[in-house]
Amino acid sequence: MNRVYNFSAGPSMLPLPVLEKAAAEMTNYNGSGMSVMEMSHRTPVYEAIIQEAEANLRKLMNIPDNYKVLFLQGGASTQFASVPLNLLKTGKADYVVSGMFSKKAYKEAQKYGDIKCIANSEDKNFAYIPKITKDMVRPDADYVHVCYNNTIFGTKYPEVPETGDVVLVADMSSCIISEPVDVTKFGVIYAGAQKNMGPSGLTVVIVREDLLGNQREDTPTMLNWKEMADNDSMYNTPPCYAIYVAGLVFKWVLELGGLEKMKEINEKKAAILYDFLDNSKLFKPVAEKDYRSLMNVTFVTGDADLDKKFCKAAEAEGFVNVKGHRSVGGMRASIYNAMPTEGVEKLVEFMKKFEAENN
Ligand code: PMP
Repeated sequence: MNRVYNFSAGPSMLPLPVLEKAAAEMTNYNGSGMSVMEMSHRTPVYEAIIQEAEANLRKLMNIPDNYKVLFLQGGASTQFASVPLNLLKTGKADYVVSGMFSKKAYKEAQKYGDIKCIANSEDKNFAYIPKITKDMVRPDADYVHVCYNNTIFGTKYPEVPETGDVVLVADMSSCIISEPVDVTKFGVIYAGAQKNMGPSGLTVVIVREDLLGNQREDTPTMLNWKEMADNDSMYNTPPCYAIYVAGLVFKWVLELGGLEKMKEINEKKAAILYDFLDNSKLFKPVAEKDYRSLMNVTFVTGDADLDKKFCKAAEAEGFVNVKGHRSVGGMRASIYNAMPTEGVEKLVEFMKKFEAENN
């Protein structure tokens, strides 16, 4: 079998045992005589799949009973609109702009109310996370929105920002289930599945129950969290197969030892790359040290042609998708849960060799 080390920012690698299990069950799931792709979502066999996926995500993230877990479609980008549509009451919300996706979320929300950017790290091309203090937040804001891990720039919040009594909403698309988070500190957590959870097409929303029911009257039904919660994510056909694969991923992480263990693995794995970057004479890390992401590691040589040469040479060796996003340039190694430590070790070996030949 010829699998590459895929450093894509998303869709990205899935755990091999998950792919193998899905392959083994592809044409006949659990004696049903059909693929999960072919199943009606309103049958006991599928209901067991979605219920088990939810139960396992709850166990993994320690999600309290007063939170709903929604399995939706439309990607995290749809939530950029759903968040203000469902949460605005006073019409005011505060946003932290720490990267491209939080900027998009901020812009989308402006269609629906009095939306204020309370902190922005664009002055250093988003290489850090701005410090948030309670006094920066408007006390009558309905929520504060943050992007917890900035996929493009390779930064993450070092701690949960302090917003006082104002509800905290976090886009965790690129860090969900990579380490434990205290769900109770958030009113809403949302994430596209295609990095740490499964295939694209599934978006997970975790929302505190008391926040439901405040949607604008003209909220499209499909974006109405209350409607989706009341129908157990089955108002219409859910992304059935993506939920099934995400369920296998949740089980895989649980069997590995849960999020404490995942964090330990991810910290060790990321340290291999960051330690090398800190000592390299050719490669330089992009994100400031205090805000480094465990999931997306950004780096440059400082010479665009050399960056290009590196990406091409890496690809030829089976390290694919290491090219950085165009707004940062250079390289980005996305090392989500499913990237084996060995993949990072081998990438670093290759980088050492490239440095010796090109410095
Ligand atoms: N937020 C973050 C942090 C992301 O990384 C992405 C996608 N890479 C998005 C939002 C947009 O997600 P989607 O493509 O699922 O709409």
